[in-house]
Amino acid sequence: MLPSTPIYEIYAVKYAGPFTRPVAKVFWNSDWEKEIKINYYIWVVKGKEEILIVDCGVSPSLAQKMELRGYVNPVHVLKGIGIEASRVQKVVITHIHFDHANGMELFPKATFYIQEKEFNFWMKDPVAKKPPFLMLSVPDRNADLAKLEGTERLVLIKGDQTLLPGIELLLAPGHTPGLQVLAVNTTKGTAIVGSDCAHIFRNYEEEIPSTFITDMVAWMKTYDKLKAKVSSLNLLFPGHDLKMTTHYPEIAEGITQLV
Ligand SMILES: [Zn+2]
Repeated sequence: MLPSTPIYEIYAVKYAGPFTRPVAKVFWNSDWEKEIKINYYIWVVKGKEEILIVDCGVSPSLAQKMELRGYVNPVHVLKGIGIEASRVQKVVITHIHFDHANGMELFPKATFYIQEKEFNFWMKDPVAKKPPFLMLSVPDRNADLAKLEGTERLVLIKGDQTLLPGIELLLAPGHTPGLQVLAVNTTKGTAIVGSDCAHIFRNYEEEIPSTFITDMVAWMKTYDKLKAKVSSLNLLFPGHDLKMTTHYPEIAEGITQLV
């Protein structure tokens, strides 16, 4: 990136967890007998002038219905670094799984940025109504999202696109048909908020995705693309790794600074 490109900080905002899962769920077809703990997160990308929220988490009503362990309304967590969710202007939704796209109501003024491919799959493709997909999304909430089509509150992104100077949205299919990640200019170089392209750092380290994969071949190509883009592998952040809570400085309750 050019030297004059704005620099951003990246924060992980933990809003639920820890959850104990079989390793095989987050690391494809491996370690069936072992368990691992994961968290649910959203992220903040913060520049001098711009604040961008990545994903919107889960609404309090769904959290209650699902009895989500350790749930804190993301709105309250964000207050810890002075962010008023009700004033947030831009929310990038990485993909339309319930733990990433259910809390739209928490950001009532925001415009949502979603890949067109991801939106069209969940809203328009009959395959999205099949059981394995229904397990990971909330049809009522998808209907709310569908209503935003054609309004100024929804921007459908076609492939790789610069969102702001120093922030690029990259189409990164594999986990879902149109997942997107953010390549962000930071003091350490280009970092990637990768969301569930990988659940844990180990997915990237060993080149094995999670079990939640709609297209393994696409995932491999996506991973090559992200590796070529990111300045170093430790700046490629996954979606659910507990380390994002435990291995980075906590600057407010539930919020750690990744870069
Ligand atoms: Zn997830």
